[in-house]
Amino acid sequence: MKIGVLALQGAVTEHMRSIEAAGGEAVAVKLTEQLEDLDGIIIPGGESTTIGKLMRKYGFIEALQQFSKQGKPLFGTCAGLIVLAKQIEGQEETHLGIMDITVARNAFGRQRESFETDLPVKGIDEPIRAVFIRAPLIKEAAPGVDVLSTYNGEIVTARQGHLLACSYHPELTDDYRLHAYFLNMAQEAAAAAGK
Ligand code: GLN
Repeated sequence: MKIGVLALQGAVTEHMRSIEAAGGEAVAVKLTEQLEDLDGIIIPGGESTTIGKLMRKYGFIEALQQFSKQGKPLFGTCAGLIVLAKQIEGQEETHLGIMDITVARNAFGRQRESFETDLPVKGIDEPIRAVFIRAPLIKEAAPGVDVLSTYNGEIVTARQGHLLACSYHPELTDDYRLHAYFLNMAQEAAAAAGK
């Protein structure tokens, strides 16, 4: 499976390494033309306002909305989760606005700006190592959204069909199982599209 990592800002190379370690082929995506032959795309962590601005500037908002309409999988991590959300608490503007979740940015406050934990995730056998950095939380998820994990009662991993999102940075550890999970989603979508 050929998986793109949106390379406008943020943790790009780490995601590429994780995808390759999980058995996929990774491509850094800087131009919308590159989307055509991808089986899925990752929107990395970084700063969502900056990523959103650059996405607008380079035509990625419409191009990725189209990509999603074709049923091709998108995986948003941390800031990337904010980019996917249909609603962002306290701000009018959304970015892709394709996933039926409401997110709160920087939801852990200053005390817990960054931390690591072992997190059980539905569909993955043993807990995964999750690194949270100024992380957002999913405050609300529509009925069609499958909650894959919670931390202190709050949603931190969710899936809605071909869309996957997590609050933390799965690419900053040597645990590639969430990337393997996403590769599986890409395989399923490719099979459904008759590829
Ligand atoms: N706090 C950042 C934002 O709101 C996200 C942080 C991250 O991606 N590590 O965009």
